[in-house]
Amino acid sequence: MKTRLNTHSARNTGLFASVRPVWLAALDLVFPPRCQGCGRVDTLWCAACAADLAHLPLAVHTVPVADLEQVLATGTHEGILQAAVQSLKYAHNPALAGPLGQRLAHTLPHFSRTFDMYIPVPLHAARLAERGYNQAQSLCAALTDLTGIPTGSEALQRHRDTGHQVGLNRQERLMNVVDAFTAHPPLIDGKRLLLVDDVCTTGATLRACAAALRDSGAAAVAALTVTVA
Ligand SMILES: [Zn+2]
Repeated sequence: MKTRLNTHSARNTGLFASVRPVWLAALDLVFPPRCQGCGRVDTLWCAACAADLAHLPLAVHTVPVADLEQVLATGTHEGILQAAVQSLKYAHNPALAGPLGQRLAHTLPHFSRTFDMYIPVPLHAARLAERGYNQAQSLCAALTDLTGIPTGSEALQRHRDTGHQVGLNRQERLMNVVDAFTAHPPLIDGKRLLLVDDVCTTGATLRACAAALRDSGAAAVAALTVTVA
């Protein structure tokens, strides 16, 4: 068992606060939460790590991914940025979408075009039920809040549960996600779309998403992730 939602940080970032399950509170008594950044006990993300993350300079990476116009990441998957992404994704700490969303927003000027809509890389319904939230959706919500550009939460869906991609090679990942996504043409027809996700590993998921969006009439598809692995 890892760590739980830090009530203090959640209160400070009300936008992304979520209701904390009672069973998690009970587990805190047995396994006190630890900072995902430095291991400090009794907090899920400590003030020192929050300051480190806030002061981490942008290191915009261009990721070569076939079939997408442009793919950018705000940094590499290491250190405090990796810890923050993992805490957002696995440790029930959606409050981190705020500071990570700011990094994404600061990367937008590095794209060669502007966008009409953000599209979160969707989770399958079963995975969404398991985690309680989609980290990509939380990042999009932060971006929308900062820029006023809408998030198309319903525009793309994952209709096949592709399981965990960890351990699969590049070709296996690509085959695993082909045709896993369905886009909804009325929501995206003629629009310039920015796919958003937490991490880009091989780009296979982004490619599959982009194919579904283009087949449904998107005018352009690019992608932005917090880290590149
Ligand atoms: Zn810490």
